[in-house]
Amino acid sequence: MANAIRVRFCPSPTGNPHVGLVRTALFNWAFARHHQGSGAQFVFRIEDTDAARDSEESYEQLLDSLKWLGLDWDEGPEVGGPHAPYRQSQRMDIYKDVADKLLAGGYAYRCYCTTTELDDRREAARAAGKPSGYDGHCRELSAEQVAVYEAEGREPIVRFRMPDEPITFTDLVRGELTFTPENVPDYGILRANGAPLYTLVNPVDDALMEITHVLRGEDLLSSTPRQIALYKALIELGVAQEVPAFGHLPYVMGEGNKKLSKRDPQASLNLYRERGFLPEGLLNYLSLLGWSFSADQDIFTIPEMVAKFDIADVNANPARFDLKKAESINADHIRMLDVKAFAEACEPWLQAPHAPWAPEDFDRTAWERIAPHAQTRLTVLSEITANVDFLFLAEPVFDQPSWDKAMKGEPAALLTTAREKLADADWNDPESLKAAVLAAGEAHGLKLGKAQAPVRVAVTGRTVGLPLFESLEILGEEKTLARIDAALAKLAA
Ligand code: GLU
Ligand code: ZN
Repeated sequence: MANAIRVRFCPSPTGNPHVGLVRTALFNWAFARHHQGSGAQFVFRIEDTDAARDSEESYEQLLDSLKWLGLDWDEGPEVGGPHAPYRQSQRMDIYKDVADKLLAGGYAYRCYCTTTELDDRREAARAAGKPSGYDGHCRELSAEQVAVYEAEGREPIVRFRMPDEPITFTDLVRGELTFTPENVPDYGILRANGAPLYTLVNPVDDALMEITHVLRGEDLLSSTPRQIALYKALIELGVAQEVPAFGHLPYVMGEGNKKLSKRDPQASLNLYRERGFLPEGLLNYLSLLGWSFSADQDIFTIPEMVAKFDIADVNANPARFDLKKAESINADHIRMLDVKAFAEACEPWLQAPHAPWAPEDFDRTAWERIAPHAQTRLTVLSEITANVDFLFLAEPVFDQPSWDKAMKGEPAALLTTAREKLADADWNDPESLKAAVLAAGEAHGLKLGKAQAPVRVAVTGRTVGLPLFESLEILGEEKTLARIDAALAKLAA
């Protein structure tokens, strides 16, 4: 039996999680879940070997983000597993041991070059039009030369010795790729102080954790030939079993066709979460960055995505991040919720610090009545607060531009008639409330749209909002009429 698929998501805990990172996590997770029936597993590993840049806060955020998104892991922090620990900062002895084996086997060597020497030789190579990567100066140092360097007090780094032949592999997304030796020079795996670098720890852990497929961003493509060479050495040393398959996910482009940078505010996962994206809406959108569900359908559930997802269908071309499309997909997912789930999902935005009303002024019955009308109109959940605040605040929000826009012509005359007709209407029937405003409009030569604008602003404070007559019904006769009276008083003042 072929080995079961094992994929991994292995971020470094630096800064806030961003959408590119989430896309990588999602594709790995979906690939594992697609093959769950044959035992596929999703490993979550934290690459925190850079104490200067890593933070515990970022680590907590990574875990919290994956949980919020519903991307559960089979092995990793909090869950454990046969290859624990899953934080690289707790695996330093392992890397030291592997580095020793690589040195002893001649797969790696100590490089005593100083930064100045390296820079000077790089400049000279450039000037001569030659490849400017590391030139192999310390590959075959004699014992005497080493002794001289040591006596000078130089502190060596450790470099991996790249083979002299080209390296070819079949990328799962891009097909066959070849890298020639002059483009992949010997590279550092340990710093002078003995600290292991990403170049070592990442493939060593992939090997030890028996990862079969490495799916990651295109920005890491240049490290792949180095890792394949290192893998071959690890196999010869008995540390690794086989070289994994690699698939490089396309770049995500932001505004102006520039690569979306993780510092770009649009890239921050927290932003989407705070604005009230649903996890399933965001994941649906992010899955389309380099993949497609079908030619004519781009709204789907996560289980539907999992059922269909194959890394072979990922496109190598850069994907464009389109905020409008993300929002529109999210709006569809909001509509797909059953109304109870929708009402629950809105809950954070109906409370402090988002909601401007006091907790005791929140009326759950009114909320449950208005929720179905709101559900079809939201793009992101945070919009709910402003859409329902008229129900829970003592007075409508006063918005001068809305007021100026709606209170044109003879608003007082119109509002007076509307108030009279509304007072006679059937308050259990929004159609009756509509008929009242329609009749008031007719009395003043106004169509419904023009007639309802002052009523809406008087009652809700805004020119746009949820369906007006349902809103009035739910707010109730007493409050509605009082707000019209208040608006009339204001117009008279
Ligand atoms: N820790 C690396 C990063 O976040 C992981 C790269 C990889 O997936 O191999 O860039
Ligand atoms: Zn050197």
